[in-house]
Parts: sequence; C-alpha cells; structure tokens
Amino acid sequence: MSLLFRTHEEFEIFCGQLFHLACDRLKIRGLSFKIMTGRQKPVKSINNITLGYTSLKTGAVTIDVYTPKNRKPKSFASILRTIAHEIAHHQKKPYRQFYRGRWIIRKHYPAFYHRVNKNITQLKKDVILGQYFNTPNKKRELLTTDASAGFLDSSSDKRLGKD
Ligand SMILES: [Zn+2]
Repeated sequence: MSLLFRTHEEFEIFCGQLFHLACDRLKIRGLSFKIMTGRQKPVKSINNITLGYTSLKTGAVTIDVYTPKNRKPKSFASILRTIAHEIAHHQKKPYRQFYRGRWIIRKHYPAFYHRVNKNITQLKKDVILGQYFNTPNKKRELLTTDASAGFLDSSSDKRLGKD
C-alpha cells in the first residue's frame, strides 16, 4: 500500500477517479467503475488471468487493481492500460463472424487493439494521466498528490461546461 493511501478504500476511490478522468479524455460516457472482488486469495499462476471485464449492457467496467500474487496495489500505469483496454470494448464492439463453419464472437480483433493503443497514446498525452506512465516507483507517490489535486479541479469545472 502506497504511503499516500491509508486504506484500501482510499486507493480504490482514487482508481475510480482515474477511471472517470480517462473516460472524460477518451470522450466516452455512461460507464461506471467497479473494483474486481472475489479474488481475495493470491492466484497460483499469473498466466492467463482476468485483469478486467466490461458489460456492454450496463456499461459497468470492472478492474482488478491489485497484483495477482501478493494482492498489493498495482501501478497506476498498468491500471490505466487495463482501463484503456476495457473502454475500447465499448468503442470497438464484439461482432459475430462465420469462421470455419460456425458462428463465433470476435472480441479481440486488429481494429480493437488499434483502438486500445490509440487510447493509451491519448492517456499518455494527458497532463495528469500521462504522469503515471513510465514513472519510476519512487516518484509515483509524490505525483499522486499533485494529480489528485489537479483532478479535482479539472473535474469540477470541466464537467459543467460540456454538451
Ligand atoms: Zn478484452
């Protein structure tokens, strides 16, 4: 747990703020943020684990914000990458395709991954969210203070004036 967050709840609330800021920057509306629960115990293998999932029906995006083995808070860069991936599912939706004699649902296709990369590029360009990419661990705690202050400012005046 980072020194800045006294409780897991504080950390999780901050993750939610990052999520909503990412939605704002990627100009997508109507999504809600959930913390992935139910994996209280560390996993044995870190291959092929679910980092997050999304509901196209409800717009709920669920993200695992803890590392798989030790259940420590993940870096904000990896949380934001997962967020960029899950948001892309709402921008490039799954589609049905007839493939080798049967109908399959394609969720992760080239245009989808192109969208994910575009999302990450946009988030990296953002003055607040960009700070969390490629930042050494030691610096991260300091940035958190600045970024959360900046976020509160930008959310209070940005949301009002927009269509
Ligand atoms: Zn996916």
